[in-house]
Amino acid sequence: MGNHMLDAIRANARPDALFLKTAGSERWTYGEMLEASGRMARALVALSVKPGDRVAVQAEKSPQALMLYIACLRAGAIYLPLNTAYTLVELDYFISDAEPRLVIVSTAAEAGVAKLASQYGAHVETLNGDGSGSFADLAASQSAEFTDIERGPDDLAAILYTSGTTGRSKGAMLTHDNLLSNALTLCDYWQFTSEDRLIHALPIFHTHGLFVATNVVLLSGASMILLPKFDADEVLHLMSQATALMGVPTFYVRLAQHPGLTPEAASGMRLFISGSAPLLAETHELFKARSGHAILERYGMTETNMSVSNPYEGERIAGTVGFPLPGVELRIVDQTTSDLIANDGIGMIEVRGPNVFKGYWRMPEKTRAEFREDGFFITGDLGKVDSRGYVHIVGRGKDLIISGGFNVYPKEVESEIDLFDEVDESAVIGVSHPDFGEGVTAIVVLKNGAHLNETEVLARLSERLARYKQPKAIIFVDELPRNTMGKVQKNTLRDRYADLFKVSA
Ligand code: ATP
Ligand code: MG
Repeated sequence: MGNHMLDAIRANARPDALFLKTAGSERWTYGEMLEASGRMARALVALSVKPGDRVAVQAEKSPQALMLYIACLRAGAIYLPLNTAYTLVELDYFISDAEPRLVIVSTAAEAGVAKLASQYGAHVETLNGDGSGSFADLAASQSAEFTDIERGPDDLAAILYTSGTTGRSKGAMLTHDNLLSNALTLCDYWQFTSEDRLIHALPIFHTHGLFVATNVVLLSGASMILLPKFDADEVLHLMSQATALMGVPTFYVRLAQHPGLTPEAASGMRLFISGSAPLLAETHELFKARSGHAILERYGMTETNMSVSNPYEGERIAGTVGFPLPGVELRIVDQTTSDLIANDGIGMIEVRGPNVFKGYWRMPEKTRAEFREDGFFITGDLGKVDSRGYVHIVGRGKDLIISGGFNVYPKEVESEIDLFDEVDESAVIGVSHPDFGEGVTAIVVLKNGAHLNETEVLARLSERLARYKQPKAIIFVDELPRNTMGKVQKNTLRDRYADLFKVSA
């Protein structure tokens, strides 16, 4: 039977070809990657990790941390990466929920995590950003020969917790085939070959940096330049040695504002991809004007991997996420009646295909509730398909505002406010309101030094938006709350302003 993911990775792994380099002097060939991950897979077995056991990893981004992901696949373990920003209190939830056999953390976190893990019967080892740690030592003492544990397409490869933007993170169960089929489709769609070199500046605990960026490189036999985090100066400097960048919209905002971004600086690059959050059309245009490249925006989520992408060769349209990927079915349905909605109508996005996960870990009821009987997954995102087949993301279903019985899509109001010269960005939320049920509320960040007051904003909006869409309140703030993936946390805003329209007794 073999090992579904590893057999495919091996098929493209030329031993002497470069797999990974750092901005410093570290270089790893595919052969070295297989040796290092083989030693680590042996270390996992030595620590009694059995096929199907969870291995939770909260590690700084490093070549060794990526080898550990590959080692888990090879040892048949279920890889469970955790956000490096999580505190002990947060880790308690993930460790009690996932019940891993082994937890691998940095030496600095070891003492606290060891206490916690012992309550749940998990063993703790360490791996640091510089490649040191007790787990690294154990791996170094092993032989590099390792026969991959057999894993079929439907065996779980990973449990990946969602970003927790709308509430508590849920563990998405992903099989070997979910990951493999999606990565192979992306390699094909984005035309990745062994000639490509990706600038990898995303975190590796999230679907974007792990299952898109890393797997696409691994499955095409390409190489990557691994950066611990995004830095506009560094990325611009590295563009002359690379062919592709995958990023969240904030990367592109920073690059587009950087004086070093010129067509010459980006001339060796063939592809700039954006995802994980909406890319403003304004950023798309500015980046194109400065670099000569049209950013390719795509859409996906932890549960569905990448499902929709602008084309590589056809027209990439700003403000859209493109077409469903080959093999992925997408439909737009009415949230209440479940009826199909025709082109250009807004509704719930549902997705079906080999990319879609197997359910939420230990949440059978939630899993049942989020899948239709015919196998379509209810994404929770609202969107529409235009007459040319391009998918538009309108926002999250949970963010839809119903004011005086009318649906208000926050993105429509945000887009109008963002057009003002004085405005940097905005977030529109619904706040409980005695007359309207929910009152449209705009949280606005002004550009440095700009002046604008509530009356001016409302006056301008009244010319452009129907009355029921116009905000009932405008609040100016210095910045919007964001999580580590750069997503605006509307839950935090809703909590913060929950009492805004409360009538005092
Ligand atoms: P949680 O499910 O825990 O609330 P989350 O949904 O943010 O967190 P992820 O799986 O990391 O967790 O993010 C997927 C979501 O990100 C999608 O459902 C969608 O709302 C948003 N998203 C991803 N790509 C895009 C895009 N190109 N444009 C707009 N939104 C996007
Ligand atoms: Mg989600």
